[in-house]
Amino acid sequence: SHDRRAEVIDWLGGLLPEFDLPLDSSDEELREYLIDGTALCYTADKLMPGVLEGVWGGYASDHRSNVKKFLSVIAEMGLPGFSVKDLEEGSMSSIVECLLALRDNVSAGLGENMSNYAAKTPSRPVAPVSTPGRRSPGEDRRRGLWDAKSPQRSPLLSGQKANEVFQFKRGQYTDLPAAKISEMIQSNSLDNAPTQSLLRVVNGILDESIERKRGEIPHRVVYLLRNVVQEIEHRISIQAEHIRNQNSIIKTREDKYRSKIKALETLVNGTNEENEMAINRLELVKVEKSKIDERRKIGEQDMVRLMREKENAENTVTNLQQEIQVMSRMFEEYREQMEEKTSQMEEHLTLRAKEAEFLLTQSKKRVEEVETASELQSQLWSKKANTFRSFMDNQKLSIKDIRISSQSIKQEMFALQMKWRDEISNIGLDLKGLVDAAENYHGVLAENQKLFNEVQELKGNIRVYCRVRPFLPGQDGKSTAVDYIGENGEILISNPSKQGKDGYRMFKFNKIFNTHVSQAEVFSDIQPLIRSVLDGFNVCIFAYGQTGSGKTYTMSGPGKSKEDWGVNYRALNDLFDISLKRRNTFSYEVEVQMVEIYNEQVRDLLSNDIAQKRNTRYLEYFST
Ligand code: ADP
Ligand code: MG
Repeated sequence: SHDRRAEVIDWLGGLLPEFDLPLDSSDEELREYLIDGTALCYTADKLMPGVLEGVWGGYASDHRSNVKKFLSVIAEMGLPGFSVKDLEEGSMSSIVECLLALRDNVSAGLGENMSNYAAKTPSRPVAPVSTPGRRSPGEDRRRGLWDAKSPQRSPLLSGQKANEVFQFKRGQYTDLPAAKISEMIQSNSLDNAPTQSLLRVVNGILDESIERKRGEIPHRVVYLLRNVVQEIEHRISIQAEHIRNQNSIIKTREDKYRSKIKALETLVNGTNEENEMAINRLELVKVEKSKIDERRKIGEQDMVRLMREKENAENTVTNLQQEIQVMSRMFEEYREQMEEKTSQMEEHLTLRAKEAEFLLTQSKKRVEEVETASELQSQLWSKKANTFRSFMDNQKLSIKDIRISSQSIKQEMFALQMKWRDEISNIGLDLKGLVDAAENYHGVLAENQKLFNEVQELKGNIRVYCRVRPFLPGQDGKSTAVDYIGENGEILISNPSKQGKDGYRMFKFNKIFNTHVSQAEVFSDIQPLIRSVLDGFNVCIFAYGQTGSGKTYTMSGPGKSKEDWGVNYRALNDLFDISLKRRNTFSYEVEVQMVEIYNEQVRDLLSNDIAQKRNTRYLEYFST
């Protein structure tokens, strides 16, 4: 690559008068020279004058577009180009190869004397010109300079000539001589002419043909036109090919960039996720920090509180210490007092001990005195015992006397007992007589009973009594229906609604109880029947009458006083009375039943069931 670079430097040195790099210059030195594109444009302009100005609009201000213009010329010629990036910072070898290809192409075109090398050989491989051996830079430069200025070998002059060949004024084409046209067609001026010039020729010919209404255009001009159009077609096809190549290159690059963009997008996504995670973590850390701050605040508050408490404790401690001091002082005083007191007490006790000793001696003396006194007493007691003994002897004698007299009394008693026994046996005999008499009494009693009940039977087994109720308070006392009550149970009832005989009616009962008759009087006629019950006869008492006629009054009574008692109470009272009187001879069991018959239904009036006795009694019945 070093040799190839030296070749290019050699060639450029010959071509451009201001180019003065030494042959052994580095890649970077060459890059510095070529980077702004002007040297490249000069080269192109020198090799093919007007090629940049005519087709591509001349030099541009910035270096990149200069380089691009040069590259487009190279591309148009079908030579291998290079990337702008390589020129700016990459390998210089592609630039070196491009320039050498340009050199070889231009020199080959001249050497072979080809009229349209670009059209016929668009990508013709060009053998590099060998530069065997080492040559001094000066020699190379001279050679290069000579090469550049040589009119035979430089395409620069022929290009200029071609340009001049196509400079016409309007309305001249038809008048062109055949020689001039053949020069234009045959020479390589057609190839070297800028496309703009060729188009100007075509337009000019067509304008002239329009202006000349008879359409008389010479054959030679038509021929020129065809050649020019062919040349233009050819160039267009080359450009199209080139554009296609460029398109494919651009497409592959686009694909590359797309994949790169995708990679970058995934990277960006990844970094976004990481960012989010980092933000989350940051927030967590913030929350933690706020918590820690709160805890720290609480801790500080606790500290303050504890400090205060400590101060309080210290205060209490000092207070307690002072109290302790006071207490210890008090205790000291108290101890001293106590010591004093104990000493006093000791003195007092010694005094008391002495007193006690004194008392002891005194009491000893007293004991002696008592002992003497007791001796005297014992003498006295022995005297008394003697007198008692003599008294006892007297007593014994008198007891003997008493025994003798008691024995005599016993004998008397025995005699009396014997006498009583005799008398009692006599009484037994008398009693036998009495028992016989009593047995006779029982017999008489039974006969009495029999007779009593026979009397009752004679009075009638069924008896019907009538009781007339007095008027109730508020009733008209004058409108009584009872006209007359006879002695033997007759009663005359008047009926004022009927006349004559039918106005009166006579009834006969066993007995009539008038209005003034008391409860006791009513019962007096029933009383004998109660005795019959206890003698074993069955008795039944009925009360019969319409509601309000006085059944309950007669049977139970209006009140609880003894006078108010009705037949029921009085009968039971007599039953228990008689059974009590006869309790030595008979024992009775009493059962009581009380029922009512109302609407032919029997009801137990003593039942606890309220429903049983609720209704008004129409007929009352009592039995034992
Ligand atoms: P009953 O039981 O037949 O329906 P009561 O015995 O209840 O009738 O008598 C009805 C009313 O007549 C009661 O106020 C009662 O005190 C009164 N009465 C019934 N008989 C007499 C009487 N002999 N003397 C006074 N008042 C009586
Ligand atoms: Mg009643």
